[in-house]
Amino acid sequence: MFVQRSKLLFLYISVICLGIFVTILTYASIAGDKPDCQSVFPHDVPLQDLDSRQQELDRKLSQLRDLEVTLRRSYPQKVAAIEQIVDDRHVPTIYVITPTYARTVQKAELTRLSYTFLHVPKLHWILVEDSPTKTALVSQFLSRCGLTYTHLNVATPPVFKTKSADPHWLKPRGVLQRNLGLEWLREHLHADTANGVVYFADDDNTYDIQLFEEMRYTKRVSVWPVGLSGYLRYESPVVTNGHVTSWFTYFRPDRAFATDMAGFSINVRLLLDRPEAVFKNTVRRGHLETNLLSAITTMGELEPKAHNCTKVLVWHTRTEKADLRNEDKFKKRGFPGSNPDIEV
Ligand code: UDP
Ligand code: MN
Repeated sequence: MFVQRSKLLFLYISVICLGIFVTILTYASIAGDKPDCQSVFPHDVPLQDLDSRQQELDRKLSQLRDLEVTLRRSYPQKVAAIEQIVDDRHVPTIYVITPTYARTVQKAELTRLSYTFLHVPKLHWILVEDSPTKTALVSQFLSRCGLTYTHLNVATPPVFKTKSADPHWLKPRGVLQRNLGLEWLREHLHADTANGVVYFADDDNTYDIQLFEEMRYTKRVSVWPVGLSGYLRYESPVVTNGHVTSWFTYFRPDRAFATDMAGFSINVRLLLDRPEAVFKNTVRRGHLETNLLSAITTMGELEPKAHNCTKVLVWHTRTEKADLRNEDKFKKRGFPGSNPDIEV
């Protein structure tokens, strides 16, 4: 009962505070009666008028300060909690490392991905092109995507590239690109001040934005299920009494960390403390993730997320290759086909 009443009182005072804020803002913007920008910067207002407006503002400000003091005295913990929300300096950054390569669907994938990330506070996107140079398409895309980002590039040597006839799982993809992302973090952050978590997000997967809040406060390594992975509905850590004890996966469940790339996040300090932890192109098929995680943690230390690994918040979706057969058909019939100057 008391809690409810104090909640109501708190709400009441907050509404009054907001009211005063809004009054001040409204006053500032509609002072003067012309609805154009002159009303915000009223050059033709006599000095006397400005003086009285200033006094009015000062009065409101002092009222606001009084209210703030009352609020702090009456509800010190609640005010502190609200301040924490407003001041995000202590909120860990999510560093998302994404390898990407040029193909017809690339810009569509990156657009979809960036729109997901735009919903996530304090996210730093490290986008690494599998390319000997930074392409104009990706550079221009990033410059207008609205996210905090770092743009890097490194080309995968042909021997490590999957040929078009190979099954997609034959060779690991995005290895050098993820490693370059890690290298950038190790160069630009310091182990004693860094506050964040690293996530490897492929450009074709689908992410629920709740996933990012699940991983944000990872102490060492967090894990969770991945939907549509490993030719199953989902693959997942198996959790017993709050601890990961094994892995639900068809392919090699005996791997120490039988998770997909999308199924874990790592505290950035752990990666800074272990500079030897990198992905290796030479590991056995399906062992990229387990190889890296074995270098930095143990199964007993894993932090199960997503309701003790019972919720799927990321899906290993794969985008169909673009079928451009009619472009060739156009050319065979002597038509020019689509305009190559139009970026897709
Ligand atoms: N990738 C890359 N170079 C390649 C192939 C893939 O950088 O030659 C990237 C790709 O953009 C994606 C990640 O590596 O972000 C994983 O590739 P893909 O989605 O093809 O792998 P799968 O879904 O088959 O595991
Ligand atoms: Mn993929």
